[in-house]
Amino acid sequence: MNDVILDELYKNIGKYVTSEKMCEKLGVSRIAVWNRIKNLQKLGYKIEGKRSVGYILKEEAKDILIPYEIKRHLNTKIFGRRIEYFRLTSSTMDEAEYILEKDPDSHGTLVIAEEQTSGRGRQKRKWLSPKGENIYVSLIYTPKNMEVSDSIAIMFATSIAIKEALSDFGIEDAKIKWPNDVMVDNKKIAGVLLETRSEAGVLTNAIIGFGVNVNMEEMPDEIKTTATSMYILTKEKIDRAILLSNTLFYLENLLNILSNEGREKILDLWRESNNTLGRKVEVYSDGEVLVGLAKDIDKDGFLLVDTGNDVKKVLTADSVRFVNEK
Ligand code: ATP
Repeated sequence: MNDVILDELYKNIGKYVTSEKMCEKLGVSRIAVWNRIKNLQKLGYKIEGKRSVGYILKEEAKDILIPYEIKRHLNTKIFGRRIEYFRLTSSTMDEAEYILEKDPDSHGTLVIAEEQTSGRGRQKRKWLSPKGENIYVSLIYTPKNMEVSDSIAIMFATSIAIKEALSDFGIEDAKIKWPNDVMVDNKKIAGVLLETRSEAGVLTNAIIGFGVNVNMEEMPDEIKTTATSMYILTKEKIDRAILLSNTLFYLENLLNILSNEGREKILDLWRESNNTLGRKVEVYSDGEVLVGLAKDIDKDGFLLVDTGNDVKKVLTADSVRFVNEK
């Protein structure tokens, strides 16, 4: 019902729409319309009502992250055409998992939350997810023609899509730390998490999660020295609905390339966008530390580290630190 009201108000933005017209469109009473309008005002819509004239939407929404606003800006074919919205959830990854379990045909469904109580990164590390300021989403993706060995390329594509969307908002210098952290000035602005299902080496389903620090004015103490946000960098409040729609658009294109043309182009785009190759790194893996030069990625996207004695392949479960950085 909200969508019908918003359609009508947006069609007539800056002009009054009579209550009669709203009642007629919705087939409900004036009181019911008024209650809906109050809810929309609470969400942040600048709607005014005048007795015996009607309702007016004064201006376009700014940063109201609800499915209606995301879809208003969306240019994708499939990604985000179905959206499951949560004001609060443990983790969008869990919700997406549950949706996929119930409905194996949910390719392209986007799960979004305003707040997560147990947002997670890789290896079950915590992803801080305060309310109303950032993007926390999971996308259900059913790949065509992909193998388990394409998994890192899916992560790469997601980080590249986020990097492109950041550049739409003037953040041109984002770089990707292997495999998938999006960094600006060596601080993390976005993270990507991939969970996959496979059968006999064929990738049957993936849940692609990502979090972007958007409008946080200050970073929480735990990550103050290691993380940043778009607001901290630009001093501007960003419309998350536009940022997310743009990211999904880039991601859909990149994953189509991966699916139709194979990994090569995505790996090259990652090479152009990374901050890891050519640097001295420490790799923590199962209690062991390995030090060497991040030389290149292999054909699957694994990091190759030259220790001086030999070249070691780094797994995505391992933790990479730049030497001389905490
Ligand atoms: P690390 O950053 O510890 O090297 P990682 O690169 O593998 O690990 P992830 O596991 O993807 O990162 O993300 C979890 C880590 O990111 C946490 O351990 C924490 O250091 C950091 N982190 C948590 N919340 C945020 C956030 N909102 N923004 C940026 N960094 C965060």
